[in-house]
Amino acid sequence: MDTTSFTKKSIGLETVEPALTPPTKIAPANFAKKTKIGTGKSKTKKRDIPEGLWTKCPTCETMIFDKELDENLKVCPKCNHHFPIGSRERIHSLVETCTFEEMDAGMTSVDMLGFKGAATYKSKLEAYKKNTTLKDAVLTGLCKIGEHRVALGVMDFDFLGGSMGSVVGEKLTRLIERGTEKESPVVIISTSGGARMYEGMFSLMQMAKTSAALAYHAQEKLPYISVLTHPTTAGVMASYATLGDLILAEPGAMIGFAGPRVIKDTTQAELPPGFQTAEFLLDHGLIDAIVSRKEMKAQLIAYLDFLTAGKKAAVAAAQC
Ligand SMILES: [Zn+2]
Repeated sequence: MDTTSFTKKSIGLETVEPALTPPTKIAPANFAKKTKIGTGKSKTKKRDIPEGLWTKCPTCETMIFDKELDENLKVCPKCNHHFPIGSRERIHSLVETCTFEEMDAGMTSVDMLGFKGAATYKSKLEAYKKNTTLKDAVLTGLCKIGEHRVALGVMDFDFLGGSMGSVVGEKLTRLIERGTEKESPVVIISTSGGARMYEGMFSLMQMAKTSAALAYHAQEKLPYISVLTHPTTAGVMASYATLGDLILAEPGAMIGFAGPRVIKDTTQAELPPGFQTAEFLLDHGLIDAIVSRKEMKAQLIAYLDFLTAGKKAAVAAAQC
């Protein structure tokens, strides 16, 4: 259909000698030549654009220059669609320059169960380490966000779907414990498909371990802010991700325990529109605010100011 409309256009453009040319025989020959030239041109145009320079927004279908997308923290400048962002880029967007002191950087998962499926767990770990240059699905460390000393954990979906194995659980537990020890607020930015099946029970027990560490942190009346990004599901959602004093989410993030298809099949009921999106959960009271990625740092500082104001005042009063 496109080619016919194209040839029609080319007739319109070639109106110099229509009356002189016999209408049926010569004209198609001209069309063939024209279309060949046309397609040739578009091919060379495509060749001129190296792959990986442009990204199509899945929401508004705008083609975005990758450099522009990176500068905009992987947020579509047209429609505010939030693309996935790596843990390192996210840390860079949140913390004060050179203040991030990474903890447990060398900690790596062990194939305790000798898991073998279509591929062994060991081979998967090696492949993901190589492709992502990460050791596991979370980066943790102490840093400064504004004037606040914060214990920050940032998950990375690129490493085995952000799954929570024993390393993710242990790194976050140590982070929370360090936060308690240093009397610092904890901020965890989650993205996860859930518990890491390759580690079986070792993976599931991380839910209890991280939750217990947060309980001790809360006992000291220290704030914990949980940020949910697309997607945050299953075991992570059922443990530390929903234990925040404040629970924030990025716009459009898919958040839930089981996936919508599983729920639909189990309950045999139609799911409401927007089910399991950040917006739906804000309406229903599970999360406290939706914060755009570009506003996240400023908002975290504002929330931390608010949550630590009482403690600061108490310290100031004690000194007087
Ligand atoms: Zn868009």
